[in-house]
Amino acid sequence: MSTSALTQPGEPNALVALLGDRLRRAVPLGPLTSWLVGGPADYLAVAESTASLVEIIAAARTDGLPWLILGRGSNVLVADAGVRGLVIRVQSSATQIDAETGAVDADAGVRLASLAVATAQVGLSGLEFGVGIPGSIGGAVVMNAGAHGGCIADTIVSATVLLPDGSVTELGRADLALGYRESRFRRNRSEVVLGARFGLARREPAQCLATIAEYRQRRRQSQPTDASAGSVFRNPPGTAAGLLLDRAGLKGARIGGAMVSTKHANFFVNAGGATAADVAALIALARERVESAYGIRLEPEVELVGDWPSSPLEGAH
Ligand SMILES: Cc1cc2nc3c(=O)[nH]c(=O)nc-3n(C[C@H](O)[C@H](O)[C@H](O)COP(=O)(O)OP(=O)(O)OC[C@H]3O[C@@H](n4cnc5c(N)ncnc54)[C@H](O)[C@@H]3O)c2cc1C
Repeated sequence: MSTSALTQPGEPNALVALLGDRLRRAVPLGPLTSWLVGGPADYLAVAESTASLVEIIAAARTDGLPWLILGRGSNVLVADAGVRGLVIRVQSSATQIDAETGAVDADAGVRLASLAVATAQVGLSGLEFGVGIPGSIGGAVVMNAGAHGGCIADTIVSATVLLPDGSVTELGRADLALGYRESRFRRNRSEVVLGARFGLARREPAQCLATIAEYRQRRRQSQPTDASAGSVFRNPPGTAAGLLLDRAGLKGARIGGAMVSTKHANFFVNAGGATAADVAALIALARERVESAYGIRLEPEVELVGDWPSSPLEGAH
């Protein structure tokens, strides 16, 4: 029987041929995000390697299926209605660390925090800031993730990128348009980060690890451990979003299961049973309160993905 005889109209045939049972259907996405909220993906595929990530995207393109990349899901708010099309969870995990030259290559699916520890242990400095950031290297490059005065832009040398035409290219740091929680990938969703190269500096392992311990301690003191997506809003120029939210009296504010952390006002936590709509409504409420108190319109750092009603963050409180 020819392959075409097996194809089904309306089915993602190329994906089925590539993945078989590994193409999962109607998969709840909440457990794949740090907020633990959100509805199902029509289809979910896990990319365990860079090669499989490239193949999955090619198949989705052949099928004409919209696709969304998910790293560790620590900066996204997935709609309760879920995501139409294919969600690709990136779990490619190869790393190469050259302790002599400081050249570090990591697949997009590598955890930033793990890479921070692994490089510190061999006496390479520059990624210590990432120890408390629960994202993947891909997500960290997209967001130019940063903390404690450091960020991805400080040490990234280049990124390996899948372009919309299916070709793979190496883009140098200057071409990544990295800024405060910004990169070219935030504007161009059809480019995919496959991996990144960093150039790290030599430093005593004990010193690197002491820095990591200090950063961990600072986080424990200042941030909640409940399910969240880290900072909800970007800091506006010259001030901290958390400070404005705190001064506007938002700590402890609650809608459904979503609550503004009493420990850090820019962290909105899932206090139990939150829906994505609860979180979005709380974001809208906080935005309105800060705007009416200070005339500053906060911009979300977290990204809403999936099937949302229009303008979910505008609110009407
Ligand atoms: C407790 C906590 C603390 C945090 N602290 C910080 C902090 O200190 N500093 C900070 O900057 N952030 C922080 N964050 C936010 C978050 O961890 C970062 O933004 C992280 O870089 C997101 O990575 P991710 O893999 O989870 O991305 P995801 O949330 O999975 O995805 C984010 C966006 O990037 C896209 N994307 C992901 N991978 C790729 C890829 N390979 N190619 C193309 N697009 C891709 C997704 O489609 C999505 O649009 C925190 C989050 C939590 C939960």
